[in-house]
Amino acid sequence: MIFFGWGKKAKRLANGGIDKCPNCGNVSPFGLYKISSSVSLYFVPVAKFATKHYLVCSTCEAGFELDEEKRIAVLRASADLPTSDDMIAIWNAIDAIALDMLEGSAPAQTVVDAAQSLKTKYEAADVDYVLGVYCDADLDDE
Ligand SMILES: [Zn+2]
Repeated sequence: MIFFGWGKKAKRLANGGIDKCPNCGNVSPFGLYKISSSVSLYFVPVAKFATKHYLVCSTCEAGFELDEEKRIAVLRASADLPTSDDMIAIWNAIDAIALDMLEGSAPAQTVVDAAQSLKTKYEAADVDYVLGVYCDADLDDE
């Protein structure tokens, strides 16, 4: 794991989805970044070192290195992912539904069933994606 932005050249390539960060424990949108190091002589880069790819947590900026296979998988998946803003909005909406159910102010049903109502406001595939992560993250806490 590295921390992002320490004198390295980084370029955001794609949306890396939302997940529970192994470093800070928050559920955060991740970005796929390409980070390259180079040596400069009088401000002219003379050597470009290895380029590496990382998934970077948007909350704590910890970067997790990806091998070639995972990098390709993340890039392929990113085309179908909601934007970071939508991921956070859908996550918060699901969380609000779950809280209402815990407090008994919403009819008893599963969060998955209740969250179907969000599909009138957001893309159905986006809701399903965030819901999948939400249910996984819930299980991890137990
Ligand atoms: Zn983090």
